[in-house]
Amino acid sequence: MHELTLACDMVDIACETATREGAERVEAIELEIGLLSGVLAEALIFGFATACRGTVAEGAGIELFPEPGRGVCRQCGRISSLETFLTRCPECGSPGLCVSGGDCLRLRAIRVS
Ligand SMILES: [Zn+2]
Repeated sequence: MHELTLACDMVDIACETATREGAERVEAIELEIGLLSGVLAEALIFGFATACRGTVAEGAGIELFPEPGRGVCRQCGRISSLETFLTRCPECGSPGLCVSGGDCLRLRAIRVS
């Protein structure tokens, strides 16, 4: 994953939101980060701080809310938590788990002032 690119996108969205709301600065953003998203939180935080420089989001905080991975078994339909994509179904042992959550990055909220 390209954390810096993601961070730049988030800063863009945060700045647009601040402008639209007539706010002077972005205080913080809240981000849901899926544990299966492949995004490295530390790299993202660093990228965000870098991308914020010189914008109304400079100095804004970033709050991360980890989202556990979830998968549905294609064999028996059981929903289980996933730590990696290679997890087998704990019920029937099938490797055919379909990821149903925790694989993405979502901007939950943007706080402006
Ligand atoms: Zn199963």
